[in-house]
Amino acid sequence: AANTTIPKTVSRHAPRVRQEIREQFELEQDLRKALDSNEFLLHFQPVVCHAEGRARSAEALIRWDHPQRGLVQPSQFIPIAERSGLIDKIGLWVMREACAQVGRWNAHGGDRLKVAINLSASQFLDPRLRDMLAEAIEAEKIAPDQLEIELTESAAMVDHDYTRRTFGRLKDLGLSIAIDDFGTGYASMSYLRKLPFDKLKIDREFVSNVDTQPDAQAICSAMIALGNGLGLHLLAEGAERIEEVDYLASRGCNLFQGYYYSRPVPAGELIETLSDIELLSARRKAEMPAPAK
Ligand code: C2E
Ligand code: MG
Ligand code: MG
Ligand code: MG
Repeated sequence: AANTTIPKTVSRHAPRVRQEIREQFELEQDLRKALDSNEFLLHFQPVVCHAEGRARSAEALIRWDHPQRGLVQPSQFIPIAERSGLIDKIGLWVMREACAQVGRWNAHGGDRLKVAINLSASQFLDPRLRDMLAEAIEAEKIAPDQLEIELTESAAMVDHDYTRRTFGRLKDLGLSIAIDDFGTGYASMSYLRKLPFDKLKIDREFVSNVDTQPDAQAICSAMIALGNGLGLHLLAEGAERIEEVDYLASRGCNLFQGYYYSRPVPAGELIETLSDIELLSARRKAEMPAPAK
């Protein structure tokens, strides 16, 4: 009889909720072992300079090669890693591995590449951050300007003064700094003005279908004008179609990262992907009508 008092909706959803909780718990347990078992890897997504028609930098994006589940995407485990405190160790691995990979590409000859890594808020708030970055750079004998850090607005905004000081110390090391997912956090004009960073990454939310959406056009045009006015580099995230690239380029955005040019690829495929992008851009240029005199 007691059973009949349980609302139908709860009894119907409870197994799914329980399943979800169990799954999160299992992932967290597995995550604890993943570092020691070498299950993480980095993929790299090219960042294309529109004016040059080529890419000389890439964003490092973590992947987890789970022994049973196969490749797990960061959206499925980064939040768990952040909640459980595992992110600091994982983040340190990312730093070292990204620098090691840049070192391998340096040794390989060819153009010097630059790699951007994502930092979680807790890594950014760690007083050892500067030293950890300095050590990773030193250990691999790479140039500091071959490394960029990406931080979201919300992570950067926790403490204004701390952020300004920390950005200053990281810039002194020679790193560059990008604000990630720009437009989705708590951007205030005063931080844009006061913080020493180099690049704004316009979130995919505004880039998607920007060629056909007047509201996205207004927002992107304003962000680009603002960024250019402040002397920042502007990057559009998640451009999937040429029309999006063309629209934003015509508004003054010069850097693009998205499936139109390339998905994130394993380290071993990056160099070839970069030459494919150069060919694609050269072909497009050749096809373009000559500018009217
Ligand atoms: P993010 O830093 O904003 O990275 C961009 C995300 O957009 C990547 O997803 C990338 O694969 C995806 N993307 C790029 N171009 C396109 C496109 O044209 N279309 C679509 N639909 N997606 C595109 P990914 O690799 O799944 O990473 C998701 C997020 O996970 C990242 O967003 C970042 O916040 C976080 N993340 C990834 N690697 C790390 C890491 O090493 N450390 C930390 N703390 N976070 C990481
Ligand atoms: Mg990023
Ligand atoms: Mg982003
Ligand atoms: Mg994003």
